[in-house]
Amino acid sequence: MIHHYTLTEHQMNKLNSIKYPLLFWYDLNKRDLPWRSHIDEQYLDPYKVLVSEVMLQQTTVSVATKYFKNFIERWPNIELLATASEDEIITAWAGLGYYARARNLLKCAKIIVSDFQGIFPQDINLLKKLPGIGDYTSAAIMSIAFNQQSNAVDVNIERVISRLFALKSNNLLHNKKKIRDIVSQLTLGNRPGDVLQGLMDIGSLICSAKQYKCDICPLKTECIALGEDIVSQIPRKGRKITRGKKIGTLYLITREDGAYLLRKRPSKGLLGGTIEFPGTDWDDDEVIKNSYVQLDNIHCKELGIIKHAFSHFNLTVSVVGKIKFENKKDFMVPLNLDNCFWALPEEFCKYGFSSLMKKVIQFT
Ligand code: SF4
Repeated sequence: MIHHYTLTEHQMNKLNSIKYPLLFWYDLNKRDLPWRSHIDEQYLDPYKVLVSEVMLQQTTVSVATKYFKNFIERWPNIELLATASEDEIITAWAGLGYYARARNLLKCAKIIVSDFQGIFPQDINLLKKLPGIGDYTSAAIMSIAFNQQSNAVDVNIERVISRLFALKSNNLLHNKKKIRDIVSQLTLGNRPGDVLQGLMDIGSLICSAKQYKCDICPLKTECIALGEDIVSQIPRKGRKITRGKKIGTLYLITREDGAYLLRKRPSKGLLGGTIEFPGTDWDDDEVIKNSYVQLDNIHCKELGIIKHAFSHFNLTVSVVGKIKFENKKDFMVPLNLDNCFWALPEEFCKYGFSSLMKKVIQFT
């Protein structure tokens, strides 16, 4: 049992007034999501919960749904996923971003199959030792798949609880701890998984960040933020992260048969394992632009500029081409051509291009 340390008596007393209207509403209004399939009367499939939670950490429900359906069609269970190659996983993940998460999913599947006979451990401490499964994902699996008490808090749950209890403190760590304590108390007793998913669904369908529909909310009589007319001010926000800027150049290098030179990025690091058009490193130094590669007797033309936002920086790349490849020696300052290969445009669908590289394909 998870203990609570920060709740007042008044907050503890509110919990039942929230829980039962929430479950009643959830039974009638829950979203029909593809990962909510039961393996028996009591349990959801932990494999599907894991895949969906990893996807939902980086994208919206509608995008995740599309990727999830393709992923599960290809690897319907953890045993089959464990047999996949890293390239296959990255290709299926292409466009979702955070490719380390996809690689960890594969590593996790291999360990569950080899060390746990393909059965997910129903123990939060064992789950947390698996690659890519942290505090949130392990807690979500415990509640959603195994119907256990947990303190899993995603952005939707955080917003709903913050408003229900009008958490006004600017100490965001304190708020987070309080929210986790409230969720662990709400998931004590019956139907913990449904409590968690009910909060997620209310956050997504009714209590969204800007368009909150308090008039149809099943929890409106218990909502302190609504009572105090401060919904728009909650949850409290941290300081805005200012992203850095980087620039780089990508080269569209073609062969006579129309094939393009492509390169596989190293497995580790940003966009790890994805396929790209070769180019310079990305740097914040203006000097790098157009200085890295020059070709004998060839005029390099800028075909366009692409802007792309990563979590920590905004990237601007100049797309240069189309350059006929004659000989590796043509490159006065050589590109790193390790891991390069040729592919015709009609074959591009076989490869795991990131969202950034999908934008570049328009220039081929
Ligand atoms: S009453 Fe409004 S602010 Fe409160 S939980 Fe419901 S939708 Fe959110």
